[in-house]
Amino acid sequence: MMDFHCHLDLYPRAMEVYREAARRNKFTWLVTTSPKAFAATSRALEPLPSVLITPGLHPEIAHERAAELDLLLEQIADVKAVGEVGLDGSPRFKAHYEVQRKIFGAVVARCAEVGGRTLSVHSRRAVRDVLADFERHPNFGTAVMHWFSGSRSELKDAAAHGCWFSIGPAMFESANGRALAEAMPHDRVVPESDGPFAKVGGKSVLPWNASQVAEGLAPLWATTPDEAAEILARNGQALLYLMGQR
Ligand SMILES: [Zn+2]
Repeated sequence: MMDFHCHLDLYPRAMEVYREAARRNKFTWLVTTSPKAFAATSRALEPLPSVLITPGLHPEIAHERAAELDLLLEQIADVKAVGEVGLDGSPRFKAHYEVQRKIFGAVVARCAEVGGRTLSVHSRRAVRDVLADFERHPNFGTAVMHWFSGSRSELKDAAAHGCWFSIGPAMFESANGRALAEAMPHDRVVPESDGPFAKVGGKSVLPWNASQVAEGLAPLWATTPDEAAEILARNGQALLYLMGQR
């Protein structure tokens, strides 16, 4: 099992979840929400080959953590991937959109400058601006659009830009989520949990629940759950190869 987007450090019993994820998952991508959280989490958790911990600056807290941008830009030199980063243009966070744009633009530029990185990207109501930053810095690396919620035409554009997509069990709860999952390029979809934020049936999705993605995808892709699981496993390997995480 693999999980390409998880806030593992934020579960109430993070240590237990960490050990269990390491036992059950071949790979878990622990995305942090701030550069300082990345530093603290990297210190607190014993490094394991199957868990990738990356520095990020979540757009929802960009305005509170803007002073940490320089630290993030420093950290990017020493890691192969970055996340969670991105933009959020929804009404709740729109007031700080300019700060978000400044941070995300600097991150994408920095990734290009250091030879390309793999990014776990938040793009809620901001797909066009996210893609514009990628266009400005074509050598930024590889984007994995996490829990993509744009329109069908934005999905097409993101796919045309070479984006990957990480999708979790919670995405299948809405008709729009299912329609988007159906339309994604089958060879560029990988599983995620987005736990503990993402919930199914009122419970936080766990890193090893990402396997439920195959069950959700099977009817949409007109395939069996086993075949969908195989496709996801193959995609996961291909993305890890791109990330240099074999
Ligand atoms: Zn997230």
